[in-house]
Amino acid sequence: MASIKPLRDFISDMTVLAGAQMDEAAFLEQARPLMQQLLAKDEWLPPAFAEPNEKSYRQYLLHCDPLERFSLVSFVWGPGQTTPIHDHTVWGMIGVLRGSEVSQRYEWGDGALHETGGVDVLEAGAIDMVSPSIGDIHKVSNGLKARPSVSLHLYGGNIGAINRHSFDIDGASRTFRSGYSSAIVPNIWLP
Ligand code: FE
Repeated sequence: MASIKPLRDFISDMTVLAGAQMDEAAFLEQARPLMQQLLAKDEWLPPAFAEPNEKSYRQYLLHCDPLERFSLVSFVWGPGQTTPIHDHTVWGMIGVLRGSEVSQRYEWGDGALHETGGVDVLEAGAIDMVSPSIGDIHKVSNGLKARPSVSLHLYGGNIGAINRHSFDIDGASRTFRSGYSSAIVPNIWLP
């Protein structure tokens, strides 16, 4: 089995960074190379946390900071799977580990949501950001029609427990908590 050390190092570095005093933009600038490093190899992710499900995309918690300052989730997309339009209410950093992820952003205007920009296609290694300060509403999908994709989503809180919203394009919203797809997290202390 491949070493889980890249994940352990990422969590360790993120824990140090989370204790530093800086604004969100500076924080994300420092977190980005850590994510880049985590994406550089993919074999550290235990197969149980890369398992697609035919009914819906999976959100496997890989780690939540004990002070809930950040959490890391492996998002596993089956072929053709997609999220609703949704927000996060905290910053989020999305890194593609395997395959590809497609993102469409939205903005409010006249009480409804409007697509902003084109569809972003993120290939393995690419990083995208969301946040209430830079645009927090999007819809993401597997970029591959016939194969699973895996992306790593890092959030500024315990994302599975945060009240946030899904939207219809006409602006109707519902509050939801995503929870997590698995009752277990990886053992980062394996060699
Ligand atoms: Fe999202």
